[in-house]
Amino acid sequence: MKVEFTKELTGDAFKDIRIAVNERADNLIVESLNDDKKRLLEKIKTRPEQMLLFEEFRLLLEMAAQTKKLWKPNETLKVYFFGGQDARTQRVLKYASIWSKHCSIKFEPTTKIEEAKIRVAFQAPSSWSYIGTDALGVPRNEPTINFGWLEDKLPEKDYKQVVLHEFGHALGLIHEHQSPAVKVNWNKTFVYWYFWEHHKWTKGDVDRNLFQEFETTSTQYSTLDKLSIMGYYIPPQFTNDGQEFPLNYDLSDMDKQYIGKLYPQILHS
Ligand SMILES: [Zn+2]
Repeated sequence: MKVEFTKELTGDAFKDIRIAVNERADNLIVESLNDDKKRLLEKIKTRPEQMLLFEEFRLLLEMAAQTKKLWKPNETLKVYFFGGQDARTQRVLKYASIWSKHCSIKFEPTTKIEEAKIRVAFQAPSSWSYIGTDALGVPRNEPTINFGWLEDKLPEKDYKQVVLHEFGHALGLIHEHQSPAVKVNWNKTFVYWYFWEHHKWTKGDVDRNLFQEFETTSTQYSTLDKLSIMGYYIPPQFTNDGQEFPLNYDLSDMDKQYIGKLYPQILHS
């Protein structure tokens, strides 16, 4: 089973909201808020969080779960590789660029760490990525994506699977099984046991990577896509009703459509 770990987002969710909104104003989804909350949000958007009242703090927490983490359309994201560029990094870029065929974000390698918005490391044992613009809140000398098991002998399809999946997170996508379109009847006791036994994941790791669900407004997923590259392999033992999810090795048709909607081609004439 291929598992990977979406690194815990930085403790400061409000900083991440501000970064996301600064990058792209429509990352903040306000449609779901009533007028009172909209006014409140307007008032507190730029105030330091130490100066927030309890009600304001709660509103920002609510927003944190709903803020998208998307880059600007047409953006070219510079990618820095710890350890330098070689055949391995070429391979990573080749697969990451498959996303670019379906949206307006490009990935370009750079040797200058200071200009890179995406920084890739290859440290065992786990693979993970920050979600979209959360990468901008990561200290400049630290990775924003890690590949824990990309060895040269890894079969192409496994290589491609993990690169597409982690770069999907880097583009702001969450796990398919965490989409609001999915109602998974988890056998939680078994799943906690399994991930602790096999991967030493804590309860918090499992909650974040499997059980945490997202709001409809923050994801825009309308239907469940079992073929999504953003899915996990979920065997029937993980659920009370025997539901399972396959492990997917390529972008699904819905992945391609969806990423194109999030990052349309903007033509400047
Ligand atoms: Zn993931």
